[in-house]
Amino acid sequence: MSTKDFVEKDYYKVLGVPKDATDAEIKKAYRKLAREFHPDANKGDDKAEERFKEISEANDILGDTKKRKEYDEARALFGNGGFRAGPGGAQGNFNFDLGDLFGGAPGGGQQGGAGGFGGGGLGDVFGGLFNRGGGGAGTRVQPRRGQDIESEVTLSFTEAVDGATVPLRMSSQAPCKACSGTGDKNGTPRVCPTCVGTGQVSRGSGGGFSLTDPCVDCKGRGLIAQDPCEVCKGSGRAKSSRTMQVRIPAGVLDGQRIRLRGKGAPGERGGPAGDLYVVVHVDAHPVFGRKGDNLTVTVPVTFTEAALGGEVKVPTLGGPPVTLKLPAGTPGGRTMRARGKGAVRKDGTRGDLLVTVEVAVPTDLGPEARDALETYRKATADQDPRAELFQAAKGA
Ligand SMILES: [Zn+2]
Ligand SMILES: [Zn+2]
Repeated sequence: MSTKDFVEKDYYKVLGVPKDATDAEIKKAYRKLAREFHPDANKGDDKAEERFKEISEANDILGDTKKRKEYDEARALFGNGGFRAGPGGAQGNFNFDLGDLFGGAPGGGQQGGAGGFGGGGLGDVFGGLFNRGGGGAGTRVQPRRGQDIESEVTLSFTEAVDGATVPLRMSSQAPCKACSGTGDKNGTPRVCPTCVGTGQVSRGSGGGFSLTDPCVDCKGRGLIAQDPCEVCKGSGRAKSSRTMQVRIPAGVLDGQRIRLRGKGAPGERGGPAGDLYVVVHVDAHPVFGRKGDNLTVTVPVTFTEAALGGEVKVPTLGGPPVTLKLPAGTPGGRTMRARGKGAVRKDGTRGDLLVTVEVAVPTDLGPEARDALETYRKATADQDPRAELFQAAKGA
């Protein structure tokens, strides 16, 4: 068993005992767990079998005074800045360095600066470290789903009705370029001794079952800067902006929140990406309004068009005008329907255009028009448009 294996595995965690557990406590914990996960009692359960192997391995080390001492020493060394390779090192078989860690390729050399550092952040680094060799079950880092991102977009009225592809600028977390995401000025952070690089600490362990919390000492990163990077103040993270083309479906309404699956922050260690939520704002149109799938428009008509009837041209959104037949005696405020001239629905069909008639009153009359209206007034002198109103007012 190499030192590397030692530091990757938290055998205390595997057995659910504290670091200063007595031999008797270790023996007791081992027996209890071994009974629980023994293959005979869990036939066909691969997870239980895996767990049983871990437990046995942990007991082999911690149950042996000499081996336990070596294990503790190796971990203490590793936790105190032991990222040092090769000859002269305290342990001959301590054979990986930062180039190995941050360069990505196992066995590869130092890759110089940020070049070898992938876009996935520190999670990838630890995925590479702790998953390598496949044996580090005690500290294996799980895939993590990327974060959901929320963004906003403002569309023109027409874009909202027809749907649009818009550029969306988003900022998210990325590794700090100055320190290659290590958080350390010289790129040589040490592994957090509290969580041994896992970024997680377990609590409430017992019965082979434990809950994990992000490590407080390293804020879940698993690394602690020896000399904090000035750019990111040791966090290892930076804001990164990217612009993405996002398709907004036809028919969105002002204030609507759209979910774009898998368009959020990338996952870590092979986890799925998060989702992107876009809150849509829609600019008002000078002429048209929206009522669900229907568009609305108010059309002025003359008094004679309303009284005598006629054909009225009505504008549509992005299409040729339509002609509406106005029946004689159409009152102001009446709404008529131009079918299929509204907004696009999900199924591709369209809503209607709701046309509200507004009787326009002329303000600038020529002498001929004035004479005609005076004649009209005389002809209708016996009509009182308010008679019904007063009747109703009295009755109530
Ligand atoms: Zn930690
Ligand atoms: Zn930095």
